[in-house]
Amino acid sequence: MYLTHLECPRCGRAYPTTEPQNLCACGSPLLARYDLAAVAAAVTPERFALRPADLWRYRELLPVADPRHVTTLGEGWTPLLRAPAYGARIGIPDLIVKDEGLTPTGSFKARGAAVGVSRARELGVRRIAMPTNGNAGAAWATYAARAGLASTIVMPLDAPAICRREVLAAGGDLRLVDGLISDAGRHVAALVAAAGGAVFDAGTLREPYRLEGKKTMGYEIVEQLGWQVPDVIVYPTGGGVGLIGIHKAMQELHGLGWITDRPPRLVAVQSTGCAPIVRAFAAGEDRARPWADARTVAYGITVPAPLGDELILAALRASAGTAIAVDDAELLADLRHFGADEGLLLCPEGAACLTAARHLREGGWIRAGERVVVLNTGAGLKYPETVDVSAAPVVA
Ligand SMILES: *Cc1c(COP(=O)(O)O)cnc(C)c1O
Ligand SMILES: [Zn+2]
Repeated sequence: MYLTHLECPRCGRAYPTTEPQNLCACGSPLLARYDLAAVAAAVTPERFALRPADLWRYRELLPVADPRHVTTLGEGWTPLLRAPAYGARIGIPDLIVKDEGLTPTGSFKARGAAVGVSRARELGVRRIAMPTNGNAGAAWATYAARAGLASTIVMPLDAPAICRREVLAAGGDLRLVDGLISDAGRHVAALVAAAGGAVFDAGTLREPYRLEGKKTMGYEIVEQLGWQVPDVIVYPTGGGVGLIGIHKAMQELHGLGWITDRPPRLVAVQSTGCAPIVRAFAAGEDRARPWADARTVAYGITVPAPLGDELILAALRASAGTAIAVDDAELLADLRHFGADEGLLLCPEGAACLTAARHLREGGWIRAGERVVVLNTGAGLKYPETVDVSAAPVVA
């Protein structure tokens, strides 16, 4: 294994990787660091093509030492789909959608859960607990079951029924709170404190290895494009783990010497009903203030106070990216247009990215001829209510 230490991006403090770890003493999430020179000496990009079509093909850049601890349901290596018809409609002929809807548990959360659970198991964790809006809890309960770990998953009462059912189906201890994800977070914090080390807090960015699973989206995009980077990557941002992860992947790829181009400009897409990152980015701030009365159909991006705000904003600025909010009515209309043009039923978070790409092209931020990759982070089938069926039955 090439993992060397955990590093605090805020204060620089280093931590060993030999035991379960949460935040830095200063309150910042921690980032996993690797001996990139040793990785570059051990493996070349061409080698990956010979490996299985899942995220574990990047094992030198993942934090699991013993292959027996790898917990998998076949996650990763999702397709890059060209979308020429919809692309022509919005003036981006080189539009590509990475479809995470094909991932186990129906969202890219499975990437983080596969790697996070594998590493937790390797470090001797027996029970994990986490607050979630839905998809992350479904994924972590599922992978915990596969690894033989117990899970306590805490969700707001109005989290989608499908995600609650997935947790129960995986034998998880499901708890519902009458409130938001922040209230679920308080419940988990109390539970973890009371358990005295017997329960590991696997909340978003509170443990460092979920990010490692999600960064593989960045590696895949580059490998699938023939070790080239696109001009722009558009990502629906809630907790921001995927965006921070893709940025980290690009930095590692540079460190490895496997890409030399200018990194892609990253776009954080939020809903006008919950846009703390967009507001902070526009104001030139380094931190985001909590968003009051958060609400949107895109529940995966309903995160009023992301713990990784500093890292998200830094990634946007470092990549010369931007942040943009779109409204629910527009993203639902784009979901329908995209389905009719391309045949793929997007999740609302993915549709939000297409609305954002359309606006950014209209405003000139995305230039003519640029290659744009949009992440469809989940399966449209998990959100049946996005398509309204009002057809009357035909008379026989
Ligand atoms: C969680 C989630 C997001 C947001 O992901 P982050 O990496 O936490 O910003 C986007 N889309 C879907 C479908 C999700 O489940
Ligand atoms: Zn720190």
